[in-house]
Amino acid sequence: MMGRLARCLACGAKLKIEEQPGSLATPACPMCGLTLVGPASLSDLAPVAVPRATLEACWASLAKERRLPLQGGATELREARLLLVPFWKRDDPTGGGGSGAGLVVSGADLLPIGLPPLTARRQNVRGLGVRTGTRTGDAMGRLPGGASLDAIAVDATLGPDALTPQEAIEAGRAGSGAPAWRLVYYPVWAMCYVLFNKEHHHVVDAVTGRPVGPARRVRWSIVSALWAAAMLALFLSGLPWLGWLAALPAWAVSVAVMKGASRWQRG
Ligand SMILES: [Zn+2]
Repeated sequence: MMGRLARCLACGAKLKIEEQPGSLATPACPMCGLTLVGPASLSDLAPVAVPRATLEACWASLAKERRLPLQGGATELREARLLLVPFWKRDDPTGGGGSGAGLVVSGADLLPIGLPPLTARRQNVRGLGVRTGTRTGDAMGRLPGGASLDAIAVDATLGPDALTPQEAIEAGRAGSGAPAWRLVYYPVWAMCYVLFNKEHHHVVDAVTGRPVGPARRVRWSIVSALWAAAMLALFLSGLPWLGWLAALPAWAVSVAVMKGASRWQRG
């Protein structure tokens, strides 16, 4: 066991951490109380949002959303790991600092395992609660005293604004007056499952328990409701001149689309 002195990236307090090789240190900051995580590549410790959704709950919600057939072993969860994923967060100086406003960008590229990146242009990924889950303070949660997380902390390899991660941390420490980027960690379950002999990777938010990633399947109920509304508008626009014959254009368009759709489905 070795001890080293490290700094809390949330409040700047110094603390001594004990590290055991091969295990992840998740001490609580003595000043701000947040649970911190210290990947080996960092000399400082970043606050981490504490996972609240169990693996079982996350797998169940993924299976439900993707409508995975679980009977008869058609779908097999092959591997699941709790990952602590780095993000850079910059609070909006014009207020609302604690409200989830500001920017959040990814600190590592995890697209290959199904986690789309947050960038300055893309601030929302469906199902990923990092913006609201990393408000400083109690929203991030705390690990009960002495508990440790069986998780893997992903190294921050991408910095914000074309900086390296270390440069971004230094800039935050220098306090140049510009809004500082802060490194935060957010937990997700990275799952690998096999469906009909094909491997799939998908990530589930370990705070909210919601699956993260590709757009939801098309909701046919919404599509048909919009379609009906469009046809009604077409009918009503023709009604004053054509009377009930106004139904004909809408009917003709519907028939044409149905024919097109069934041809497309047959592929
Ligand atoms: Zn602190």
